[in-house]
Amino acid sequence: MKQTYYLDYNATTPVAPEVWQQMEPLLREQYGNPSSVHHSGKAASKVVRQARVKVAELLGADEREIIFTSCGSESNNAAIRSALATNPGKKQIVTSRVEHSSVKKLGKYLTEEGYEFYEVGVTAQGFLNIDELRHVVSEKTAIVSLMLANNETGVFFPVNEIGGFLKEKGIMFHVDGVQAVGKHPLNLKESPVDFFSASAHKLYGPKGIGCLYVKKNTPFRPFIAGGSQERGRRAGTENVAGIAGFGAACELALKDLPEEIQRLKSLRRYFEDTLMKGPHGIVVNGDLNRRLPTTSNLRFPGVDGESLLMALDQKGICISSGSACTSGSTEPSHVLKAMGLTDDESKSSVRFSFGRYTTEETIREVLVILQDTLGALKESSKRNRLMEPRPEAAF
Ligand code: PLP
Repeated sequence: MKQTYYLDYNATTPVAPEVWQQMEPLLREQYGNPSSVHHSGKAASKVVRQARVKVAELLGADEREIIFTSCGSESNNAAIRSALATNPGKKQIVTSRVEHSSVKKLGKYLTEEGYEFYEVGVTAQGFLNIDELRHVVSEKTAIVSLMLANNETGVFFPVNEIGGFLKEKGIMFHVDGVQAVGKHPLNLKESPVDFFSASAHKLYGPKGIGCLYVKKNTPFRPFIAGGSQERGRRAGTENVAGIAGFGAACELALKDLPEEIQRLKSLRRYFEDTLMKGPHGIVVNGDLNRRLPTTSNLRFPGVDGESLLMALDQKGICISSGSACTSGSTEPSHVLKAMGLTDDESKSSVRFSFGRYTTEETIREVLVILQDTLGALKESSKRNRLMEPRPEAAF
């Protein structure tokens, strides 16, 4: 079987063995409903309680501030919709041009519903234009929603500084922390953040489980109405195995967070430094220092990102292009475009993202395959250019 080199950890991560161990019995024999009063229900309720404590610990929160949801996208939608419901006179939502589609697409719907959805720009390094944000927010702003770390470039936004300023203005603040959780130290109790989204599948937990942190005393209106699960804040029978997996994933992340950050930083340095020394003129998209240790978004001038992705896939390497596929056509990444890259520059960019199971050996082998592939792609595009028909004579 062909070897797989998985370098797409920002898209999703494998379930860690430590996590699966906690989940398996809950899927097999301990299947009680946490709302049931019998012993099986009580056991399930205890599992949920214990996991909530572990999630809260990683986020630096109180466990009563954690609402389990189905995913990061739901958490993002729930936070923004709640702020609008609890601030009925305020009709503006402020976010950035580089947010995840779960915020961007919601913005489209909200505009159709009569809200103003304003997207603040970013610099060439991917930083938020803070002056523009300060200028645009006002008494009509219901909520500001920003990522902590960008999924494509890894670049951090200074959410503590921004939140402090918004607190003075009495504006609610939501942070999409989906990419940062488990990869960056957090202390939400001490931060000026009202809502914070997380998703288990980005940190070696299962898919289909996430959470929304809602700071104590923040008004909240449920996104999903129904039963009184999650203290009346999110209806629906709990995904007990998923929640247990999320808790186990948070416990695992907390165990070696500083060491893992350093390890990944040094692997990435080795990866990028080696590539930069090569002949391909590779450029890093986004700020070199203030970004997630997992992420390396690279531009390969003169190379089509999609072709590179496909060629690497054939050799067992999984990465992402900086482009999103929309109904069959490849659109340049909205993140890279917001940073000022041309369509061509954006389309020649791809994202490598590293994680817990990426070793130095993985990187070394990937570098060899990547350099060969780049050489072959450049050679074939040179041949294609030579074979292009010459323009016809003018007469
Ligand atoms: N926000 C960010 C920054 C993400 O990267 C993602 C997933 O890629 C999400 C939100 C959505 O998370 P989920 O896949 O759990 O809905």
